[in-house]
Amino acid sequence: MSSPAPAVASPVPPKSAAPLLETEIPLVNGPAVPYVEIETLRAREFIPQAKEALSSLLREQMEGKLLRPVFNWAGRNSLFPLHWGLACCAIEFAAAFGARWDAERFGVVPRSSPRQCDLLIVNGTVTWKVAHKLITLYEQMPEPKWVIAMGNCATGGGPFRTAYSVVPGVDKLVPVDIYIAGCPPRPEALLDGILQLEELIRRRGE
Ligand code: SF4
Repeated sequence: MSSPAPAVASPVPPKSAAPLLETEIPLVNGPAVPYVEIETLRAREFIPQAKEALSSLLREQMEGKLLRPVFNWAGRNSLFPLHWGLACCAIEFAAAFGARWDAERFGVVPRSSPRQCDLLIVNGTVTWKVAHKLITLYEQMPEPKWVIAMGNCATGGGPFRTAYSVVPGVDKLVPVDIYIAGCPPRPEALLDGILQLEELIRRRGE
């Protein structure tokens, strides 16, 4: 009678030694894996809560509490003035956007189309001849929009107030929010006027 053959070590590693990923990756037509079940469970819990949060946001929006402050904050910190100049004050306007005063650090970026602008800076003498052009540009700007009268000419006619051809203040044509005195006002004064306008927009809640 022969003795039993000695046991030979199996070359296949035990199951517990298999790489972790191999047991967790979902196989095609295979059984559901824990990863999928967890995702389903999370979705079931998430959707009702998301619905409730969305309803609450919509309620606040209908009451004007939600997006209005956000738009107000974004709007007043990204004013787009119309890129145009009327007279000598326009030189100060241009200097304010140069490297030295750098008005763009306040988010103020001049644009060349009134349809992209929300701020009209009237920076010079307004004559009756150009008045209808100014009104047209203002009307082409989308709401909400604001007007700064920069310098004595735009504010009240300046040294030419009594001239037959000069509008004695641009507020005879369009509503003015901020007046800046000076002949001409320096770039710092324009920057101050812009900051005053930002504060005005914040207080009005527009
Ligand atoms: S306020 Fe003075 S600097 Fe400005 S446009 Fe009139 S005259 Fe020129």
